[in-house]
Amino acid sequence: MLTLTFLGVGSAFAKRNYQANALVEAWAGGSEGQASPQDNLLIDFGATGPLALHRLKDQPGFAYLNQAGRINYPAIRRVLITHLHADHIGGLEELALMTRYTFAKQAPGQGPAVELIGAAEVLEALWHHSLKGGLATLPGDGGSLSDYFTVRAVRPLEDGAAAPIPLMDRYEVSLLRTHHIAREERFDWPSYGLVFTDRAAAATALFSGDTRFDPENLGPVMEPARLIFHDVQLDEAESPVHATLSELRTLPEPIRRKMVLYHYADDWDSPRYDLVGEEFAGFARPMHRYTVFDEP
Ligand SMILES: [Zn+2]
Repeated sequence: MLTLTFLGVGSAFAKRNYQANALVEAWAGGSEGQASPQDNLLIDFGATGPLALHRLKDQPGFAYLNQAGRINYPAIRRVLITHLHADHIGGLEELALMTRYTFAKQAPGQGPAVELIGAAEVLEALWHHSLKGGLATLPGDGGSLSDYFTVRAVRPLEDGAAAPIPLMDRYEVSLLRTHHIAREERFDWPSYGLVFTDRAAAATALFSGDTRFDPENLGPVMEPARLIFHDVQLDEAESPVHATLSELRTLPEPIRRKMVLYHYADDWDSPRYDLVGEEFAGFARPMHRYTVFDEP
């Protein structure tokens, strides 16, 4: 079984919900019968990530994330970074410091426990433009990303020869470029979505990541996907960098029916959006464990 739980479902500027980061868990038996999953992967860890995880650890079914009242950081096996906005990376300094110093359990000679995954261009910029400021504090040259994480750069699907990220033997995660921010042209500021595959059941699911409405790029993935988690922006901006609700409403009904909307602003419960539950699979519920694949 593969499950996905949103730490938060809010936009970058949301205050009523935490930011849109998610915990993917792979289970050999199922989430009901086991105290902890065989494998897990955090999709992004933004500025509100630590607070959200602190809250999640007290929810039923997530006790393995609780270590004597604090976040059990070593229970997070991998973190995948989709892009460099602060609502997606702002919690990484805490995770790095907690893992290296507070939970310094790794045996001498072994690398850091948490695997940090992303496209090479994202990981390189993550260190040099973001994390270096607070983490380049080791003797000598200050250190690098690999002093805190086991770093794993992956190629996106479009580049061919992509090595997917395995979760247990059965599931895979692959990166897909998204049209989120464009400095001058499409894809020139790196951001990624995720495709999940259940190899045994030949089924897929999509986690869009931050993206504009982009049926040209995402359509072929949305069509066969069993479940879609899609970025949404509720206000109708002139040049949106997320998919607006009115744009998503133009998708065919079969696509909308399997589409859970996340990354939404604080006015989501306005009567204006009462129909979202009928038009789509609804707004994503925070800290709810969604079943992505459930075949035995
Ligand atoms: Zn973004």
